[in-house]
Amino acid sequence: MNKSLLTRCFFVLYLLTITCLATAAELPEISILATGGTIAGSGASATGSAYKAAVNPVDKVISAVPQLEQIARIRGEQICNISSQDMKPEYWLKLAARINQLFRLNLADGVVITHGTDTLEETAWFLNLTVAYDKPVVLTGSMRPGSALSADGAMNLYNAVAVAGAREARNKGVLVVMNDRIYSARGVRKCDTINPAAFDDRENGALGRVNYGKVSFNTRPDKKHTYQSLVKLPLFAGKLPEVPIIYGYAGIDPQMVETICQSNIRGIVYAGVGNGNPSEEVLNVLAKASAVGITVVRATRVPDGPVTLDAEVDDAKYGFIVSDSLTPQKARILLMLALHKDLDRSEIQRLYFEY
Ligand code: GLU
Repeated sequence: MNKSLLTRCFFVLYLLTITCLATAAELPEISILATGGTIAGSGASATGSAYKAAVNPVDKVISAVPQLEQIARIRGEQICNISSQDMKPEYWLKLAARINQLFRLNLADGVVITHGTDTLEETAWFLNLTVAYDKPVVLTGSMRPGSALSADGAMNLYNAVAVAGAREARNKGVLVVMNDRIYSARGVRKCDTINPAAFDDRENGALGRVNYGKVSFNTRPDKKHTYQSLVKLPLFAGKLPEVPIIYGYAGIDPQMVETICQSNIRGIVYAGVGNGNPSEEVLNVLAKASAVGITVVRATRVPDGPVTLDAEVDDAKYGFIVSDSLTPQKARILLMLALHKDLDRSEIQRLYFEY
């Protein structure tokens, strides 16, 4: 090869390298924080329903979707590797602290959390109240393990990374991406035990869609979130207050409610029937609890509609709070954070309407 041809080859190679580096640098930097779930699960058969969640580490979850490299610069971290029925506040705190740190130090443009679907909505809601930045935080998971026919995890992860890297996803609070749809943390819930279209926001619908990584939003959440964060995390010391949920039903034993109220709790969520209604006997127990300083929040076991103040229950008289349209499990998280901040009842009630 003559000298001028060699020089030209080097020059073309140089240009190609510069172009590749520049393109890579333009890609958003996304941290994937893995917590386990079916998206990290595996089964022996592609057609059998038996499998084990949370067996694959984060590297394996990421390397199963090499196409991620085309849309983002990815960094993976293992927060825990559990089925999400084992999720607990200590992992929520760890996640929130890490996400706030990544954003504070400008180490990520967006964060994706891989999570079991059973309690995914609770983690999303906790983070919506505790992450103090407007950059995208997106939770995703899967209903089928990677070993199953028509596994949904790879596309869910790809779509979640696309949303986390999208400018339009900023300032919308914590998001959930499942089955091509984008949901807000407040309203999203798991509505099906086994179907890949398991998630929905029955009150407000999805915020948008993501189709093969193409992100489109139709609307935005109208509540406060993330950068108006309810709790600045460094304030956390020790444990969050214990808040149980009691599920109402016909013939509920008031003594059982009384026993729970006499345990060491600062607040309680009563998932009542209808518009958050307790039976007369349970109402008396809750009224006594409220009078001795336990914060009582009325929520509902009904899937749709808010719990409203002073309808059949005289909330003003008993000092009760209503959950608005938050599910009992999300009402509990808001109450844990509000009690941690030692807010008074009128302020806590305001939070249920504003967040
Ligand atoms: N129960 C498991 C979990 O929540 C599996 C459910 C899932 O991830 O789809 O982690």
